Amino acid sequence: MALKYKTRAFVFKKSDMGESDRFFSVFTEEFGRLEIFGKAIRKTASKLRSGIDIFFMSEIEFIQGKTRKTLTDAVATEKFNNVWQDLEKFKTANRIGEVLDNFIKGEQKDENVFNLLNETFTTLDKFQVPSSKFQALYYYFLWSLLSLLGYHPQVEKCNICQQKLNPYAIYFSDKIGGTICKKCLGHDASATKINSDIVKIFRLIFKKDWQMLSKLKIEVSSQKLFENVSENYYAYILSGHSSKNNYHH
Ligand SMILES: [Zn+2]
Repeated sequence: MALKYKTRAFVFKKSDMGESDRFFSVFTEEFGRLEIFGKAIRKTASKLRSGIDIFFMSEIEFIQGKTRKTLTDAVATEKFNNVWQDLEKFKTANRIGEVLDNFIKGEQKDENVFNLLNETFTTLDKFQVPSSKFQALYYYFLWSLLSLLGYHPQVEKCNICQQKLNPYAIYFSDKIGGTICKKCLGHDASATKINSDIVKIFRLIFKKDWQMLSKLKIEVSSQKLFENVSENYYAYILSGHSSKNNYHH
């Protein structure tokens, strides 16, 4: 007899198959990432149809077959309606889904990641601020996830000489995994010059202080700089991810 499993699942990707089937990529509370097969779920008559979709939190039941996991029940516990109705929110949700898809490859339970997802989507859903702030939430998620996966950057001091940072000469190094000072630039000539605003953003993210972060007023140039530093680090970690990281194997 096939084994039946039940878990809470956050859906971050879906892909259609054939006439009426669909695969869901979900991050579950019990098993980490799973690929779940929704048989004939796109048919109007499907009972499961309304219980699961992208960016839903659903209570799912599935059976483990020889080659795949087939969905047998799905009840949506949170549909994050505002995310669906607001284009900017939906775009942000897609970017978060992409990050998850890139970094989480295998089945491994991780309650912290599950909670981060739940918190991030609850905030995105309730959030009533200009859409420019959605960027901040996306980066809040990105850096928090990278930290949970073992890529937490050190931004308290120079990571080479351990000296205090001079606010006018701070550099961020992907290779070293955090801030370095001017004297130590020889260790990574490709490090990016940053400023104390960026360090402030990092500290708020790692303190999990979304309230302060969402109210923080920083210059557009610093925002752009922070985005660049974030995207570079993301690409750097991703490029070496499969060979270096054993976390999710
Ligand atoms: Zn140094």
